Amino acid sequence: MSQDYPLRQDRNLNGNSSRRLSARCGVNVNLCLHCQSCASGCPFTGAMDLLPNRVLRLVQLGLEDQALTCSTIWVCVSCNTCSIQCPMAIDIPAAMDALRHAALEKGGVVAEPDILAFHREVLRTIEKYGRTHKVEIMLRFKLKTRSYFSDLQKGLQMLAKRKLDLAPSRVNGAEEIAAIFSNDSKI
Ligand code: SF4
Ligand code: SF4
Repeated sequence: MSQDYPLRQDRNLNGNSSRRLSARCGVNVNLCLHCQSCASGCPFTGAMDLLPNRVLRLVQLGLEDQALTCSTIWVCVSCNTCSIQCPMAIDIPAAMDALRHAALEKGGVVAEPDILAFHREVLRTIEKYGRTHKVEIMLRFKLKTRSYFSDLQKGLQMLAKRKLDLAPSRVNGAEEIAAIFSNDSKI
């Protein structure tokens, strides 16, 4: 994990980035004390290039572009482990989600394109069936990323344990769920 900028800097806070993020998701990152309770509890820091609070720090400092291109915003799975430990009750997953949306709108580099591809396939099956269909998600994801055999063993094990349904099933009212997608901008 690269942590190549100090938390304490001789810089003024830049309110513009914080205000933009707050307008998107209602989270005030300027409340962050950098106590690192969130980072201590996050189960995914090993796969992140920046600790979660350091992403907030970038926004505090007005270094929004760096926040939008880091891997952390994509690696975050919105598990909420961090926010329940935060003494300032900062909704960190909401901030990460807003930063993901901002990154897509900006159209720059996505640090974890495979994670974005996976998100899109999950959403595609929800739009079609009103729920996820894991086999279709994995097949389409594998085709898109051309990593055909990387999880084959795991997939076969899941099939053997009947953890995967080969055929998709639709929920009642799937059309209403599909309508949400047509009303909303797609990621
Ligand atoms: S736990 Fe909250 S206050 Fe502490 S560093 Fe994380 S976001 Fe900031
Ligand atoms: S919500 Fe994201 S940042 Fe927070 S603990 Fe979970 S993975 Fe880590």
